[in-house]
Amino acid sequence: MMLHDRYGRQVTYLRVSITDRCNLRCFYCLPRGCSGGSHPERLDLSEIAAVVRVGVGLGIGKIRITGGEPLVHPGVVDFVRTLSSLPGISDLALSTNGTLLAEHAQALRSAGLGRVNVSLDSLRPAVFRAVSGRNDLDRVVAGIDAAAAAGLAPIKLNVVVMRGVNDDELPAMLDFAAAHRAQVRFIEYMPLGLAQRWASSYVSRAEILERVNPYLAAEPPRLQPGDTATYYPLRSGGEVGLISPVSCRFCDRCNRLRLTSDGKLRPCLTSEGEVDLRHALKPRVSLEAIAASFRAATAGRPACGTYAGATDDAPASATRAMSAIGG
Ligand code: SAM
Repeated sequence: MMLHDRYGRQVTYLRVSITDRCNLRCFYCLPRGCSGGSHPERLDLSEIAAVVRVGVGLGIGKIRITGGEPLVHPGVVDFVRTLSSLPGISDLALSTNGTLLAEHAQALRSAGLGRVNVSLDSLRPAVFRAVSGRNDLDRVVAGIDAAAAAGLAPIKLNVVVMRGVNDDELPAMLDFAAAHRAQVRFIEYMPLGLAQRWASSYVSRAEILERVNPYLAAEPPRLQPGDTATYYPLRSGGEVGLISPVSCRFCDRCNRLRLTSDGKLRPCLTSEGEVDLRHALKPRVSLEAIAASFRAATAGRPACGTYAGATDDAPASATRAMSAIGG
């Protein structure tokens, strides 16, 4: 039986957070002083694989491995190998900050990973450091090049656009992506988790579009099934993606659930409701109980998420950082 919610949408995509730990400290996600280690009940990778296996049996064909930073997990390559051997997964992808990608790209590809999304908020070393707390821009660029060399394709570069931080770098990002065989996607800053100075840093889709407009070709944008981005053709060839979770919700097309690293299925990024899976995994794995949890999480999907109540100092969903939810 497939996973259809009350609004007729089918769940075909699972984002899997394999760890809430991260080696960066982006100020909007996991700031300094926040360990990311607040959940002692982390699942191990064999338990996560069991959950994925059941999800695939229920019609989920797209899996994204995320975190935290998934490449800090020592078992990530073996985990990719396990998932890539599962019949039924048509799209196996990983989101990373890119800092450890140069070391892992070839092994990940050999283990069966299809593609990577790399988060990259600035091409200026000082800004990169101010956002992430680390001086790792060169390592991220090396990681992107290693991913391309390993044949992980397409490479998507995710840029959270923030006023006064990196909103003047959009053309430079387009050039960088073209030069590195990648595609850039500009993402609206969301008032979630630990997002700081959200209202004053937020740049709307309309403004992002205005800024990239001189680089756009005349052809209309396109939507890709199962993808949250709208893709605009560029004059120089290729496309730029705009992901606008705040100003232009895509809930009607939402096809996803999230598995947090502490064993919760999260029906919607923006709402706190979660289905606890751990009873289905400990002391031993019950496939029936996992399937029931998938059905409960699917039934719990709201028609539309909301960031209601967000202010500059108090994000809408203040209890869980993106690093814990699995961004
Ligand atoms: N470490 C991996 C990475 O860097 O891609 C995966 C996890 S990270 C939480 C996933 C994505 O969430 C990153 O692209 C990050 O920029 C994004 N993110 C975190 N907090 C966000 C927010 N408040 N608004 C928009 N994007 C956010």
